[in-house]
Amino acid sequence: MNAARERIREKKRIVVKIGSSSLTHPETGDMDYIRMEKLVRELSDIRNQGKEVVLVTSGAIAAGRKVLNCSSLNGNGERAMAVKQACSAVGQARLMMTYQKLFAEYNQVAAQVLMTKNTIVDDLNRYNAHNTFSELLRLGAIPVVNENDTVATYEIEIGDNDTLSAVVAALVGADLLILLSDIDGLYTDDPRKNPEARFIGQVDELTKELLDMGKASPGSPVGTGGMNTKLIAARIATKSGADMVIANSRDIGVLHRILDGEQEGTLFTAGRDENFNLREFVERLHR
Ligand code: GLU
Repeated sequence: MNAARERIREKKRIVVKIGSSSLTHPETGDMDYIRMEKLVRELSDIRNQGKEVVLVTSGAIAAGRKVLNCSSLNGNGERAMAVKQACSAVGQARLMMTYQKLFAEYNQVAAQVLMTKNTIVDDLNRYNAHNTFSELLRLGAIPVVNENDTVATYEIEIGDNDTLSAVVAALVGADLLILLSDIDGLYTDDPRKNPEARFIGQVDELTKELLDMGKASPGSPVGTGGMNTKLIAARIATKSGADMVIANSRDIGVLHRILDGEQEGTLFTAGRDENFNLREFVERLHR
């Protein structure tokens, strides 16, 4: 077994992020309860192994849109923003209700934490959030985190949950971040368009070339597509001393295989940078 993969078996504080597309059925946009249930069972089992777990979950806006029947209202503008925020208010509560219920079935306590950019940029907020996470983990609860989409507008939002999960990993001093997504990991190119695209199993240095590759392909669902936010997350996580793995959520069992040191997804190995300042990094996001 590769040494870096072997070290994953020793990880103690783990942040797992799952995206909306992994939690909903593509055909209907409704919640995929089987996937959620498997996720909760895996996370509960990781807790039972004596490890600490934080879940960063999307899906609030998607769930709310469904409940309020406003799937047609997309785009920008004040009204669209208000609709999105209203949807998240409804959807976040639904999402949390489902997580509470599922975690309770496995005898675990889920705790909701909603954050914005200000949670990190403001010194007192950051200090308080850090203390809250520490206390929740000490008490054995599983923090379930999302952006506070109901109040977060452009100026104060982190914007996407890939970045948010890395920020959380840095804030709580996690030693591993796992991004569960609808892609297998990092490729040299978009595998849908280029059959020559090679899969990259491990990244030890985030070179400028890699970061530029991510920038060139924002938003696409497969291959290097949508890699930009994942590479930003990798920068935050690795500089703060956490390994990061991008893996496909198709089979949620991938979580325990990663923790067993198996060669799943793309591993970005940690390279702590003492000069990395989380507050400054977050402050510069979207500027
Ligand atoms: N916070 C958003 C939601 O819960 C999702 C953001 C993201 O997926 O990056 O719907």
